[in-house]
Amino acid sequence: MKESYTTIIGMEIHAEVKTSSKMFCGCKNDPFHAPKPNIYTCPVCLGLPGALPVPNKKAIEATITLGLALGCKINMLSKFDRKHYFYPDLPKGYQISQYDIPFCYDGIVQTSEGTVRIRRVHLEEDTAKLMHSTINNEAFDSAQPRPELTSKGEHVTLIDFNRSGVPLIEVVTEPDIHSASQAKEYAKKLRQIIRYLGIAECDMEQGGMRLEANISLRGIRNQESGIRNQELPPYKVELKNINSFRFLEKGIAYEVARQAEILDAGKTPIQETRGYDAEKQITFTQRVKETAEDYRYFPEPDIPPIRVGHTWLSAIQRAMPEPMDGVFSRWQKQYGVLPEYAGQLCEKPEQATWLEGLFQAFDAAGLAVGMCVNFLVHKRIQVNLFSDSYETICNTFQQATQLDDVSDDELNRVVSEVVLQNPKIAAQYTSGKTQVMNFFIGQVMKRMQKKLDAKKVERAVKKIIAQQNHELS
Ligand code: ADP
Ligand code: MG
Ligand code: ZN
Repeated sequence: MKESYTTIIGMEIHAEVKTSSKMFCGCKNDPFHAPKPNIYTCPVCLGLPGALPVPNKKAIEATITLGLALGCKINMLSKFDRKHYFYPDLPKGYQISQYDIPFCYDGIVQTSEGTVRIRRVHLEEDTAKLMHSTINNEAFDSAQPRPELTSKGEHVTLIDFNRSGVPLIEVVTEPDIHSASQAKEYAKKLRQIIRYLGIAECDMEQGGMRLEANISLRGIRNQESGIRNQELPPYKVELKNINSFRFLEKGIAYEVARQAEILDAGKTPIQETRGYDAEKQITFTQRVKETAEDYRYFPEPDIPPIRVGHTWLSAIQRAMPEPMDGVFSRWQKQYGVLPEYAGQLCEKPEQATWLEGLFQAFDAAGLAVGMCVNFLVHKRIQVNLFSDSYETICNTFQQATQLDDVSDDELNRVVSEVVLQNPKIAAQYTSGKTQVMNFFIGQVMKRMQKKLDAKKVERAVKKIIAQQNHELS
């Protein structure tokens, strides 16, 4: 890289909402566990002419719940819009989405690399799922095609409408993300919040959560003039359909390097949509992006505007659990539990309640809660979280962490034995290979069949080795 660049990233993340029925019809919303393709369908989600959509109240509540959790403002009067594009996964020829009045706007997500502003949280419908296949392979057989229409070896595209019309939340950030690692942290945190609220499973592999990153680079050369360039670059590259956090990070890193090279050559990268090839570890052109105008957005005439209203809004607020960030920072203050560890143990509000009870039990049993949590996270002490009783877990911890008593005389006697029997290792220690200390500590405890304070044993070993060196010299 000849020049220095600031990386600018804005993210668009989709999550399939876990409601029992679809967004605009009564069909079952369970695309991943459906025994067969195209069984959860009706005229609405097949896009048949004349079918009328009826919005799913639970999905709207989930969207507003997420918005509130992200500190968003809520549009008290909202609406749905039609977004037009032509693709076989969209039989109506348009997707019902939200354009200028999303349910939620202006929120915030904190990351260790800075604040990410949330531009909007809106609700839309998912499309059908396309499967590219060759006749007579497994996927095709299970779909039971009509043999008279096809011939063996032919390349075909199969459509499964079980996913068509599944409620989909989209969360859009401002271009506030400045590195691949921050993008990953943001996406993980968003998934953690969504799961905690019970809004969606966010199964990345199955496409229950899909990540998109818009990436551009801004030269910082005119900082020399003292004016920091705040303008957005005149292009952005959209990295689409990423289904893992690792690929997100790698894809962005690749893009940053690719765009820097183009900019270094005095050119501007073209505005386009790219995909990530996990095998080759590169990004590749998918299409040159439409502008908003190409979608010909207009208000959905079959769904009246949605009035949220204060009664409904406060009912949604009351049903929300204590904010996850709040719970975790309280645990840090009260029990010395690292928020990072808390996040690894606790994915649901019910779990938070249970864990808090455990922390109190640890505390009452005289155990250091922070240390216990550390052991739990690193699986150094095995217990069944959320099913064993507090008593059982506390006993396990007490036994595992309790130290046995030993007199100085007895300790010195065993330490002397061990040191005498291992003169070579003692010499290694003397010559500076201090990591052999662990060998002595382990041997002493083993021989005594006791769990001892390792620091105390270490002091005894040092003393004995020093004495012997002294006697020998
Ligand atoms: P579009 O109309 O193409 O969808 P938007 O302005 O709505 O573009 O932004 C979509 C996403 O792209 C948002 O997350 C936004 O923060 C991000 N974004 C916009 N401009 C840039 C840029 N120059 N570089 C990186 N991300 C950007
Ligand atoms: Mg967009
Ligand atoms: Zn349906």
